[in-house]
Amino acid sequence: MSARLIDGRAEANTVHARVRDGVDALRREHGVVPGLAVVLVGNDPASSIYVRTKTRRALEAGIRSLTFDLPADASEAELLALLDQLNERDDVDAILVQLPLPKHVDTERVIRAIDPAKDVDGFHPENVGLLGAGHPSLVPCTPLGALHLIKTVRPSLRGLEAVVVGRSSIVGRPMAQLLLIEDCTVTLAHSRTRNLAAVCRRADVLVVAVGKPRFIGADAVEPGATVIDVGINRVSSDAGGGIVGDVDFEAVSQVAGAITPVPGGVGPMTIAMLIENTLRCARTRLHLGETPWP
Ligand code: NDP
Repeated sequence: MSARLIDGRAEANTVHARVRDGVDALRREHGVVPGLAVVLVGNDPASSIYVRTKTRRALEAGIRSLTFDLPADASEAELLALLDQLNERDDVDAILVQLPLPKHVDTERVIRAIDPAKDVDGFHPENVGLLGAGHPSLVPCTPLGALHLIKTVRPSLRGLEAVVVGRSSIVGRPMAQLLLIEDCTVTLAHSRTRNLAAVCRRADVLVVAVGKPRFIGADAVEPGATVIDVGINRVSSDAGGGIVGDVDFEAVSQVAGAITPVPGGVGPMTIAMLIENTLRCARTRLHLGETPWP
């Protein structure tokens, strides 16, 4: 392996420590303990694990965490009524609705019902629009964490070629917008992109969020590029078992300049950014000014 390994766990721990200090200061100076409300509908095992991890990390940072477990058959009206209450509650600074929601619920309508100032995931159309306009307020946690990791290798991104593979609203699109704000020249690739490997080879910074195990090989990476692997794919024991990314780590780490592992890369940073966004929500509600970006 010649690439530098970007350690997402270590970076996430640094962020957690910084947030804990910020939470302490808020309590000392303003008597406020930030509150995060997590809404879980149904009992999808993966979602339950994510919610438990998020709650634990919030508590470790000194944040008050409230979990609302609704049954899988809870109606959309019940969920909207709960969000109305949480929007009004003064002790709730940030609201997270764990996705995916059951099929009978209109996810877009639910997201639109969250107060944009408490939209800790940055999915509300107002926050999506602000990011698109180049004035980010609350930004989705995964691309924010990925940007943070990129900056550990490339503190200034001005003028670099960035290629993002995948255009989902939770990862690819906001990632491209963030890189544009950082003055990269951005290409957003997707399933209809022609000659993907050649497009990817333009990249000084390559971010991959596709959802296909080991999809990007060494032929798609320019020597020295910074490669961020967002993918989380469970593979069968026949294929080696465990969790792998969207990048063929073994092959790509021979050519890349720096690379994130899976697990231990973007995943821990996503949770760290959620905790930081919670503090950001609380500070903004107290009119304490902007929390600095990565
Ligand atoms: P989506 O399924 O919503 O989006 C996948 C994107 O990949 C789409 O834009 C799709 O293109 C594109 N794509 C699919 N096939 C190809 C192809 N052959 N060539 C080029 N592009 C292709 O996935 P998400 O964005 O939600 O997630 C992506 C990955 O990131 C998953 O593995 C997921 O588990 C992981 N993830 C990790 C997180 C973390 O915390 N680390 C958080 C969120 C996600 P098109 O739009 O044309 O269909």
